[in-house]
Amino acid sequence: MDQLSISELNKVDLFPIVQQVFDKAFKEEKLIYNESDSFEILEDGNLKFKIEIVGGLSKRPSNRPQEPGIKTNIPRPRKDVHAADPFMIPEPELTVVECLADEYRLILNKYPNTSNHFLLVTREFVKQDSLLTPKELATMYFTLQNLGRHENYFTFFNSGSESGYSQYHKHVQFMPFPKELQNIFVDDLVRGEEFYLPKDTRSSRQCLNDPNCPYQHYVLPLPKIPFELEEAEEQLGMAYMVLFRKVLNCFKYLNSTNPFDVSYNLLMTTKWIMIIPRRNAKFDKVWTNALAFIGLFLAKDTEIQGLIKEYGPSTILQENGFPNNGDVLGDENDY
Ligand code: AMP
Repeated sequence: MDQLSISELNKVDLFPIVQQVFDKAFKEEKLIYNESDSFEILEDGNLKFKIEIVGGLSKRPSNRPQEPGIKTNIPRPRKDVHAADPFMIPEPELTVVECLADEYRLILNKYPNTSNHFLLVTREFVKQDSLLTPKELATMYFTLQNLGRHENYFTFFNSGSESGYSQYHKHVQFMPFPKELQNIFVDDLVRGEEFYLPKDTRSSRQCLNDPNCPYQHYVLPLPKIPFELEEAEEQLGMAYMVLFRKVLNCFKYLNSTNPFDVSYNLLMTTKWIMIIPRRNAKFDKVWTNALAFIGLFLAKDTEIQGLIKEYGPSTILQENGFPNNGDVLGDENDY
């Protein structure tokens, strides 16, 4: 599809279009993907995890300006990051929508985790470490709503050098929610909750947090937003700012060695939005991005699968994120 404005996003049926491009690209071997039904389900504490080997992971290129673990106060980006940018001129066979809402493209993930896994990328180069704009958040939400007519999707954004991202060109991802992990703790947290925005005072109601979850996380319930761009931008933009400030506070109080390098994963369904502050991209050889924080551990081979089981998912998530301290509240100088 060539062009889709925001208002047209309400009129098309996106999932069959994604599916058609995916099936064709798969048949023509444009995707590095082997459908696998071999996975393990692991229970750790009150959480459920799916551990799956995804062969394409070892082939995924990485194009970061800075390797994780380099804790300089002022990151010095590698110079060749633009030259190796795969999203600047995407492959036509992977393109789902060439121009979405003037500024974006929808393209298939060339190394997908599942079928129909796709990305929203900016048409011009924008840094992955920049904040999501209200328009991006609204586009993400309306895309989820549209896909939801057929499939329960979620969207995620890995930002910052320790977030586990592999590409520096701004992108968010859309994946069908893993069937084995439906109804995770976040769904329980928001059940019956109305949309609200926490106020700055320590006494007021803060973000939702499950004390039984081992890693630091902040959740807000989302309302059913009508197809109204301004309303969606306002509500999602405010929710994201509240969550992002929690990440800043977390780094201020818990990781003061490197306050300039803020990393986090953001995940969203049509019912909730969650942010996870990140201090490490990997623990030993186990890399994680947003997916592990809803319970989906992807391993490139049996060695990594073994390590995940040996350390236990909860330990890895605490080390790559932060141990759960509830809502980190400081003083009047909080962000
Ligand atoms: P992240 O690792 O969070 O930065 O996500 C980047 C995604 O881009 C990865 O899941 C890769 O599989 C995907 N990717 C890498 N190269 C390409 C490409 N040429 N076309 C489409 N997707 C790609």
